[in-house]
Amino acid sequence: MSGLRDRQILNLIFPQRKESTVSLMNLNQNEQELLDTITRKVDAGERITFDEGVFLDEKVDILTLGDLANRIRERKNGNFAFYNTNIHLNPTNVCVYRCKFCAFRADLKSPRGYTFTEEMIRERVQEARITGATEIHVVGGLHHQKKFEWYLDVVRTIHDEYPELHIKAWTPVEINWFSFMTKKPVRWVLEQMMEAGLSSMPGGGAEIFHPEIREQICEHKADADSWFEIHREAHNLGLRSNATILYGHY
Ligand code: SF4
Repeated sequence: MSGLRDRQILNLIFPQRKESTVSLMNLNQNEQELLDTITRKVDAGERITFDEGVFLDEKVDILTLGDLANRIRERKNGNFAFYNTNIHLNPTNVCVYRCKFCAFRADLKSPRGYTFTEEMIRERVQEARITGATEIHVVGGLHHQKKFEWYLDVVRTIHDEYPELHIKAWTPVEINWFSFMTKKPVRWVLEQMMEAGLSSMPGGGAEIFHPEIREQICEHKADADSWFEIHREAHNLGLRSNATILYGHY
């Protein structure tokens, strides 16, 4: 079906679909009118209200939400989809934190714990080159004994081995940790990383910002204010970033 527009694909899957939205829901008349109002707002580029957002969350199925989101996406980007080919590098899984949902981390002395050597990092980057990756995504644990310089060297090594590779590295949780370790401002940390070869930041660590939930699932991690402040600082320095939400922890 390549080349078909998303709406054409939806029409193929849901031939009964009305032009306004795909709906698998049993909405009453008021709810259907509200959905039509929201759809009109989306098409007109207007913001929806908080209550309308709650309504979408509670009553509307994922395909309808996808259809609404796609209208905005097409308005902004046309009928294009962008992607890159990337490879992941998680240089250590040893982590001082104990986020409840995390199956990746290991204690310092755990037999599961690992830390990449420089040679292993270079091998991973070679893999990226061979497989044609254009980006490397680097995130990992906050190692109890590794200094900031070690994390900086991870980026330096990648950049040295394959300078053309886009390095997307370290979530705000890690940047916050580096700032804490070095007692230096976030801006300084980011500048050091950029000098070493950092190209952009991933959006991890954004899982549920509401303090009540965040305290239950990852109480020591950078809170919402820090997370946003770090992204803001990154943007001020010309870095691009995104936000990644994980949900369904319980
Ligand atoms: S900070 Fe990251 S690696 Fe460490 S426990 Fe939390 S999610 Fe896992």
